[in-house]
Amino acid sequence: MTTIRANCPTCGDVQLKANDLVVRICSDDESGSYAFRCPDCAHPVAKDASRRIVDLLVGSGVRMQVWRLPAELQESHLGPTLTPDDLLDFHLLLQSDGWFESVAEAVRKNIER
Ligand SMILES: [Zn+2]
Repeated sequence: MTTIRANCPTCGDVQLKANDLVVRICSDDESGSYAFRCPDCAHPVAKDASRRIVDLLVGSGVRMQVWRLPAELQESHLGPTLTPDDLLDFHLLLQSDGWFESVAEAVRKNIER
């Protein structure tokens, strides 16, 4: 079986077998990466990979996963960015009686604007 040498940020060069890694390809932008768990320190490691590296790894028997960018990236966002204060206000709101009606009312007012 092919031995693959990769680099762990903590341990340096480590030796892996093909089934120790996974290659991930994003079908939206065709970017590639690979990931493995370091055999020495057990930390997960993920690195960007060029097309050439992806081809070499897949050709060595590394399994490939294809993934898509989250659909939320295509959504348009209106209004100001949420702040930590907004989050605290929302947390306090959720502790009050009738929080659901308050949220529904706020959403309804926002839609009417
Ligand atoms: Zn390590």
